[in-house]
Amino acid sequence: MSYQIVTIDGDGIGPEVCQSAVAVLREACGSGVLDFIPMPGGALHYQRTGQVLPEETYQACRRTHAMLHGAAGLPGVTYADGTEVGNDLHLQLRFKLDLFANVRPIRLYRGVKCPLVGFEPGQIDYVVLRENTEGLYASRGAGVNLRGDVVTDTLVMTRLGVERIARFAFELSRRRNGAPRDGKRRVTVCDKANILKSYAFFRAVCTEVAQQYPDVDIDYAYADAITVHMIKKPDFYDVIVAENMFGDIISDLGAGTVGGLGVAASAELGLKHGLFQGAHGSAPDIAGQDVASPVATILSGALMLRWLGDEHQDTRLLGAAQRIEHAVEGVLADGEAVPHDQGGSTRCTEFTAAVCRRLQ
Ligand code: ATP
Repeated sequence: MSYQIVTIDGDGIGPEVCQSAVAVLREACGSGVLDFIPMPGGALHYQRTGQVLPEETYQACRRTHAMLHGAAGLPGVTYADGTEVGNDLHLQLRFKLDLFANVRPIRLYRGVKCPLVGFEPGQIDYVVLRENTEGLYASRGAGVNLRGDVVTDTLVMTRLGVERIARFAFELSRRRNGAPRDGKRRVTVCDKANILKSYAFFRAVCTEVAQQYPDVDIDYAYADAITVHMIKKPDFYDVIVAENMFGDIISDLGAGTVGGLGVAASAELGLKHGLFQGAHGSAPDIAGQDVASPVATILSGALMLRWLGDEHQDTRLLGAAQRIEHAVEGVLADGEAVPHDQGGSTRCTEFTAAVCRRLQ
């Protein structure tokens, strides 16, 4: 069987990192396994055509096995309400394809400098699971600006939405090896249940779902406090489940503890569709210079293979995913290629070539 993968390069460093991941995926899977279909979209495309996600791109995404995306967005390309056009590309895909689970692994790789003192590779290995279609971002484009004096955006939670992300969290924990500190399977619910009804509801529904998973511990943390815990005891975490905006924020913090946005992979999953891209944005400040780190997008490509491999019970893809992760870690650990954001001078294309050589 071969798999169709729609690729959307996007803007800024998007094309560089997306093409890097495509090269690595091709090398890891060999010929005849992945069939890449490049499609347009992004802020530059919007400037030219008025569409950030063209209809033909959306239709291709709907039909494909998986989507791989660089990043989208350009400074100054905004809608009339001041919000960024570029973000709308993946936001539209999220909502239209119901990609409700944003999986963001936070893992310290060998060869990456950890800014936290006393933590080694193997000691930071958890997942921030961000609810991706509800919460505060659900009302994007629908907030109310009353006469320029009062502005509201509504935080939305539904039982269905919280139940399914909670179930996803517990299932994910079951497939992992537990927290590095004590080997315990643990889902930490991140909220502000002490302040808002919506978050108290989020916590209550997660607690209900937990009853079906007696083999997984449930743990709670307020969103402000967890920012300290993630710095002081990152080895305690296994899976952290959070509302959309909190998940967005704490996953970037988590990324910062394991080497920054340049190494942070991300998968946005629904029941049928999967969109894979680095957790970073289009980084226009370094675009077009071949200095971006492709690590996040390459590792997102590996997540894509894992997801496809599981969905289609295809061990070829699972093996290729593991080879990619080992190759990236090997290159980083041996110092064979050190990207700019890790203090080195390896170009994006050179890093890609180094990973491909390892795969050979
Ligand atoms: P968004 O809101 O779309 O997430 P952003 O403007 O908050 O985007 P990024 O585009 O992710 O942020 O970039 C933030 C900074 O991080 C950039 O200025 C860049 O220096 C750095 N950065 C992000 N991704 C990479 C990468 N892959 N390689 C190197 N540096 C990166």
